[in-house]
Amino acid sequence: MKIEALAVQPTLEADTATRALARARARAFGEFVREIPFAAALLDRDLTLVAVSREWADQGIAAGVAIGDDAGAGGLVAPEDAGVLLACAEEGVPFSRYLPTLDALGVQHIWRTEFSACVDAGEIYAVMITARDVTGYAESVLRAERDKQRLTMALELDELLVREYDLRTGEIYFSGAAPELQRFCLFDKDPLEIVHPDDRQRCADAVATRKLGEARVFEFKLNRDDGLETWVRSVGKVFVGADGKPEKLVNLFKDITDRRRQTEAIETLAFKDPLTGLPNRALFQHRFQEAVTASETLGEIFGLIMIDVDHFKDINDSLGHDAGDALLKRLAGMLEHAFRSNDTVARLGGDEFAVILRGLHGEADMLRPIGKLQDLLRQPIEHGGRSFTASASIGAALHGDPDADPAHMIKNADIALYRAKEAGRNRSIVFEPSMRSEVERRLELLRDVRMALADNEFTLFYQPVVDIRENKVAGFEALMRWVHPEQGVLTPARFMAAFEDQDLSLKLGDVAFEAALRQMREWLDQGIEFGRVAVNISSAQFRSGRLAEEIQERLARWNVPCQRLTIEVTENVYMGWGSDLVSDTVRRLHEAGVMIALDDFGTGYASLANLRQFPIDRLKIDKSFVQNAEDEAIVKAVITLGASMGMKVVAEGVEDAEQLAALDRYGCDQVQGYHFGRPMPADAVAGFLKGFGG
Ligand code: C2E
Ligand code: CA
Ligand code: CA
Repeated sequence: MKIEALAVQPTLEADTATRALARARARAFGEFVREIPFAAALLDRDLTLVAVSREWADQGIAAGVAIGDDAGAGGLVAPEDAGVLLACAEEGVPFSRYLPTLDALGVQHIWRTEFSACVDAGEIYAVMITARDVTGYAESVLRAERDKQRLTMALELDELLVREYDLRTGEIYFSGAAPELQRFCLFDKDPLEIVHPDDRQRCADAVATRKLGEARVFEFKLNRDDGLETWVRSVGKVFVGADGKPEKLVNLFKDITDRRRQTEAIETLAFKDPLTGLPNRALFQHRFQEAVTASETLGEIFGLIMIDVDHFKDINDSLGHDAGDALLKRLAGMLEHAFRSNDTVARLGGDEFAVILRGLHGEADMLRPIGKLQDLLRQPIEHGGRSFTASASIGAALHGDPDADPAHMIKNADIALYRAKEAGRNRSIVFEPSMRSEVERRLELLRDVRMALADNEFTLFYQPVVDIRENKVAGFEALMRWVHPEQGVLTPARFMAAFEDQDLSLKLGDVAFEAALRQMREWLDQGIEFGRVAVNISSAQFRSGRLAEEIQERLARWNVPCQRLTIEVTENVYMGWGSDLVSDTVRRLHEAGVMIALDDFGTGYASLANLRQFPIDRLKIDKSFVQNAEDEAIVKAVITLGASMGMKVVAEGVEDAEQLAALDRYGCDQVQGYHFGRPMPADAVAGFLKGFGG
């Protein structure tokens, strides 16, 4: 080490004699240093190592240190420290460094070395080093340094704001990497000032129960003066001073607005009905489970109400989907108004709503809001400059019997709802156990049919209609069959209720039309002369008002001529709800060439005079007349009357030659019945036609 090269001017001006003297003095002092019972060393004023205490030398410090070597301080002073060290010595300022060494065993030690000048008569003649083994301490200092770095990094990465609030002086310090939060995390007196009024009570309650020194996590909205919404998560802890008194409150804040919005969006998607904003079926089921648990564990009484808008489909079809949506939203509003805010009002789908009422004392608690709802429903609904009223059918069930299974509540409320509809809608009925059996069977059947539809278990059988004048097959009636995986082929008698259910009858109608048209197309392609196929239509299918278009679209899609199709409509359909709609639909179909048959004639209340307004091509005399010899006169009269009105007459249920002969005599044109053929699967038709001699 070339100390001379260093800019320590005043010392370099000392003359060579003085230097030599100083060096000699240092050497003499060195003898003394060697005997010091602690770690020490002596450098001369040129920073050449003169002596190392035995104590320090034993601990390995001498390793690599060449005593008396002019080349330098033997590694005790880093070259870059030399100038500073001498300047400090000159000024009498202490100088210290950490010095790592390896001992004889290769273990690293860290020494804290302190340098002090040895002065005689104002002249520095040596530099004394004392050292302390601080290995353990130094490591912890280094670790703390690293941890601090890590902490800073964590704060930055996580965009955390640290706030220290000195509880004695009221001073507030901030650090961390979210400076924009600072403004809203400042307060005058009470740390809760920063919490939005909506959340303040909740946080205050939590703070009140916090123990000293215990960390607490809160999520709350910030009380921002600019009205923007910022959610923060805060971890707070009070630190206690040496006197055992609270000293400071340290909080870590993180802006969680984005995360909260995302969670909210996800929750909304998962648990809210988008149209009405009400809880959806999933949330309803969750709340229902909660109610069940509360009733099982606490014996709480709860109520369940099912609500179904009457003729919702008609409103949708006649006034449009917008009106339907408006109605559903209005109804949602009415429901929220009629029930308590802690009742769960949910939309289960379509026009179905449900309410769960918890903590009831008895039936009256449930009937009161139902009455309120019915009052609200009487108010007209305005939409698009029009005003209309809607009604709803309501089924309710109450659970308070600890022996009963609360899980049956949904079924019970459904049964009550079904009863309300059956009794003419626009009313509410509370479930009673006696209602169960018959209705239950029906509901079960509808559920089974729904599943069977999904599994494509429905198909059509074809029964021949024979023209007895020309002695040939005039066509076939398509009759629905359920090919049940366990019970075999079932006739409609087993699933009649499905034809009466609005939704299912539409689906079955769809299946029937598609199947019949596909079949006709196939027969046409194969050159099988099947005449006409008659398809039965239920009243629900007319409701959309689009049936004529739908049928024509389908015929076009399958490229089947209108003249190949007959539709069979019962007189009850003509006479029932929305007869103008029916009349309009059949007229359009008739004009397009589709044949219209009046089915089951004689069983309803219509007279032919009533039916005059409808374009009817065929009258089908119900099999009960054909098969009952006493009704001979009626059959005769119907045939004559039909002929006079230009209608051909088909007799159903002809089972034997005797019945056939009688009908022939009365002038009946066509017959259908087991005598000629039972309903058969489509692939039996070609064979039947061949056998008939066609
Ligand atoms: P429907 O329209 O009056 O059909 C005639 C019924 O009489 C058929 O019963 C047929 O199998 C039965 N039948 C035919 N010849 C004879 C006979 O000589 N003796 C006896 N005892 N019965 C005979 P099926 O197939 O059980 O259908 C019952 C009812 O179900 C049908 O009465 C019709 O109202 C309804 N239906 C069947 N398929 C459909 C469909 O696709 N859509 C609709 N909406 N209703 C359908
Ligand atoms: Ca029929
Ligand atoms: Ca019939």
